[in-house]
Amino acid sequence: MIAGVLVEISNKAVDKMFDYSIPSFLENRVKEGIRVLVPFGKMKLEGFVIEIKNNNIYDKKLKDILDVVDSDIVLNEELLELGKKIQKKTLASLISCYQVMLPKALKAKHGSVVPVRFDTFYRLRKNICLDELKFNASQLKIVELVCEKKIVVRKDLGDISLSSLNTLVKKGVLEEVKKEHYRRNYEEGITFKHELIADQKKVVSQVTLDSPHTYLLYGVTGSGKTEVYMEIIDYYLNQGKTAIMLVPEISLTPQMVQRFQKRFGSKIAAIHSGLSDGEKYDEWRRIARGEASIVIGARSAIFAPLKNIGIIIIDEEHSDSYKQSNCNPRYQAKDIAKMRGEYHCCSVLLGSATPSLEAMARAQKGVYSLLKLPNRVNGKSMPKVEIVDMNREMKTIRGHFSKKLVDAIQNCLDKKEQVILLLNRRGYSSFVMCKNCGYTFKCPNCDITLTYHKSSNTLRCHYCGYGEKRYFECPKCHEKALSNLGLGTQKIEEELSNLFPTSQILRMDYDTTSRKGMHEKMTNDFRDGKYDILLGTQMVAKGLDFSNVTLVGIINADTSLNIPDFRSSENTFSLLSQAAGRCGRSEREGFVIIQTFNPNHYAILFTKNHDYFSFYKQEMNIRRVLKYPPYFYLCNIKVSGKDSDFVLKEALKIKGELSRNLNNIIILGPSTASVFKVNNIYRYNIILKYKIIDNLSEVLERIDEHYKTVSKIHLEIDFEPSQIL
Ligand code: ADP
Ligand code: ZN
Repeated sequence: MIAGVLVEISNKAVDKMFDYSIPSFLENRVKEGIRVLVPFGKMKLEGFVIEIKNNNIYDKKLKDILDVVDSDIVLNEELLELGKKIQKKTLASLISCYQVMLPKALKAKHGSVVPVRFDTFYRLRKNICLDELKFNASQLKIVELVCEKKIVVRKDLGDISLSSLNTLVKKGVLEEVKKEHYRRNYEEGITFKHELIADQKKVVSQVTLDSPHTYLLYGVTGSGKTEVYMEIIDYYLNQGKTAIMLVPEISLTPQMVQRFQKRFGSKIAAIHSGLSDGEKYDEWRRIARGEASIVIGARSAIFAPLKNIGIIIIDEEHSDSYKQSNCNPRYQAKDIAKMRGEYHCCSVLLGSATPSLEAMARAQKGVYSLLKLPNRVNGKSMPKVEIVDMNREMKTIRGHFSKKLVDAIQNCLDKKEQVILLLNRRGYSSFVMCKNCGYTFKCPNCDITLTYHKSSNTLRCHYCGYGEKRYFECPKCHEKALSNLGLGTQKIEEELSNLFPTSQILRMDYDTTSRKGMHEKMTNDFRDGKYDILLGTQMVAKGLDFSNVTLVGIINADTSLNIPDFRSSENTFSLLSQAAGRCGRSEREGFVIIQTFNPNHYAILFTKNHDYFSFYKQEMNIRRVLKYPPYFYLCNIKVSGKDSDFVLKEALKIKGELSRNLNNIIILGPSTASVFKVNNIYRYNIILKYKIIDNLSEVLERIDEHYKTVSKIHLEIDFEPSQIL
């Protein structure tokens, strides 16, 4: 027997299957989807068995597989096929398409070994006759305990000596049993649920009764989408099926997991970046063994090795976190969901209060079925939104808080209600500038301004990690006129506590939540009323559901509008709408204040009226005129290298090759990336806009193949990029 093996090696040129023969001692253990150890040149490498064939089509003698790595397969039939489809769609290496599906513990040379943990139990050996044996006092105690409890662990023995236990094992009275032990425990659920309202019921029955396809659920914030997701999942669980539920960044949505856990208990497996490698591996094994039937997680949870999937749900489908953009394969989880949906004949449900333009356009064309939850469950209207023009305010105030916002906060505190304040820092950071000559500090390796970090008093590069101490004197004009610019949450927190000295303020940002479990703790503390004001970055806009929050203040609506990206209006509209949706979620009415320097921008005006569809129409017009998605597809080809002239020359060659071989395509560039130099690597973008081109993949693959052999050029192909930078 012969096995086709894909070896785990990052060299792009080696990305193909190699044949090995299966030695007879491994014949029963080598299967498709198992990991094996093989000789490769002078090395021993790990690889995946992709295919098993009966005979050797070449006459030459093949090398033997050395061993199997795991006791069972790690890629089932579905995932093996899926990997090939992803390879075709993204043009990444096949090995990367399989690696992305597996937890780190199952990747070759992941550094630290992540062992399976075991608990040791003791029980009486079968057929042992106790009457014939003699015991000392402490041995007798142990034997009595084991007889009573049938099975014990060491800690049950209290202060009885361990040597007695060991003697009993040696004598053959007791035997040791090892059982796998998972690092995390789930409490049993209490199957708590709300009686659904009519709108919710309608959505549930449409999804569960209709034939499988893709649905887009447009439901305003607080319309009860999460409750609908749980009901749909329950339906499929009762049919003996399983479910995947994706959320943008699960460690930022502890409430969602808590709600699922409350209802489904240990049936769920939650995978997210906050878990250790060991915990992730445990969760993966629970899923693969069918011990968990609902998987909740961020992007990569779409690859969970569930069998018999009944529904795949993608919450906040507009989030750009569903696109993997920093490494290969550059996949979109929504595409993978559809592929898996086809395999399992199940529906895919995309949900959002602010659907992406792409999704809504497909729903309008009838490619997706549109479902709506137009009202909040509590029967209340959406919160009232007021816009404050900061151009005017800045003439009378010194800090960042308009009089309106200050009054509203005070009013809220007086009523013992809670406030959420959003500091919009999307694409924003603090930097140091000389007030005398205008000098700013730049990274020596990258074409970017250094970011000021107050805690360590250093300037750092967010691209390459370069760091230096913050000076007091300007290196150019030698004046002591350096000043920190930019809006940090710390600075706003100081201002807030001066304005409201007796209130309890909770700051939630990247710094304060980086320690494991902090985000969840803060969320719970705020819910329990230990704080009056929650101040934070983007993370306070997502998914929080607190009944006592009646005011949301947005300190600066504009930063995300100024990012040079064609999606900046869409991202701003969705961020503001999501933030606004955090208040008025139960009996008490909610109120929102948006501070902005662009009070007439349509993204802000439509947020004020909670008018998603008008925003959609206006933004679609702009996209049509400018030939952007969803009217056109985009593909970004990133060409980079150390020698900037050479990179440009090659990028121009690529452009020439593309225009000679492709029709009906718009080719922009090569243009310098928005940060041209990163870590001394110069970067150019070539942007393709197109509708349908049959031979696009073929042409790109050929170019990609060629540049694998040009060591001075690095090429990356990114279909449907979430951002072009
Ligand atoms: P969304 O996900 O659309 O923002 P949620 O599912 O979080 O909405 O629902 C908002 C709030 O309303 C939650 O506190 C939820 O527990 C509650 N809720 C949802 N559906 C119902 C219902 N049918 N009856 C009572 N309360 C509900
Ligand atoms: Zn740098």
